[in-house]
Amino acid sequence: MELYKYSDRIYYSAYEEERDRPAIGYIRGDKFSVAVDAGHSEDHLNEFYEALKKEGLPLPQFTVITHWHWDHSFAMHCINGFSVANRKTNEYLKDFIAARSEENDRMFLKSDPSVEKEYAGGKEIIVVPADIVFEGSLNIDCGGVTVVAFEAVSPHTSDATLIHIPEEKVLFIGDSTSGEWPTWIADPVPLRQLMDVIEGIDAAHIIGGHWPIDSKEELLNRLSEEL
Ligand SMILES: [Zn+2]
Repeated sequence: MELYKYSDRIYYSAYEEERDRPAIGYIRGDKFSVAVDAGHSEDHLNEFYEALKKEGLPLPQFTVITHWHWDHSFAMHCINGFSVANRKTNEYLKDFIAARSEENDRMFLKSDPSVEKEYAGGKEIIVVPADIVFEGSLNIDCGGVTVVAFEAVSPHTSDATLIHIPEEKVLFIGDSTSGEWPTWIADPVPLRQLMDVIEGIDAAHIIGGHWPIDSKEELLNRLSEEL
């Protein structure tokens, strides 16, 4: 797996369309490091951890989840350290766990070819709730760099968390600017509200889940065209 270096403090992995694997973010602090999203499965996460080790980077002590969707959260059971999610994300995960049955697991695997590919060979689906739950916003002082996680309105899901690294002027947004799965058509009202939020953030670059890094201006211009 390719690991991209944005700065001495910020890294992010390549995303992959075939197995719907989003980019996983990484913030390196002097005291400890933080990851953005856990990934689609244990295999996905392990590839990310191997890429970190190759770079000599410590494994993250905390993993902040951008939203509950399987491709971002279903590797939470095997992360190093602790997972962090907003209350709504955690409720969605708990609802998924409560609804699990052989039939529902089968339906989940059949929901998209990318899921089937990720879980090929009878790989077990393991879903767990978060270790740390927040509401509103959460500041994590990693030593020399701060992770600010905050809830935001989104046309993708109702549980979006954005992750701002003020010192590095980077914002991780998960899939929040996309429409709803599986059509990806975004409701313009929450999209406009989210664009206003992003506009107000002091960030030079925006890292999303399933597309290349953008400057803030590029992202906002592209979204304006979609409206
Ligand atoms: Zn998603």
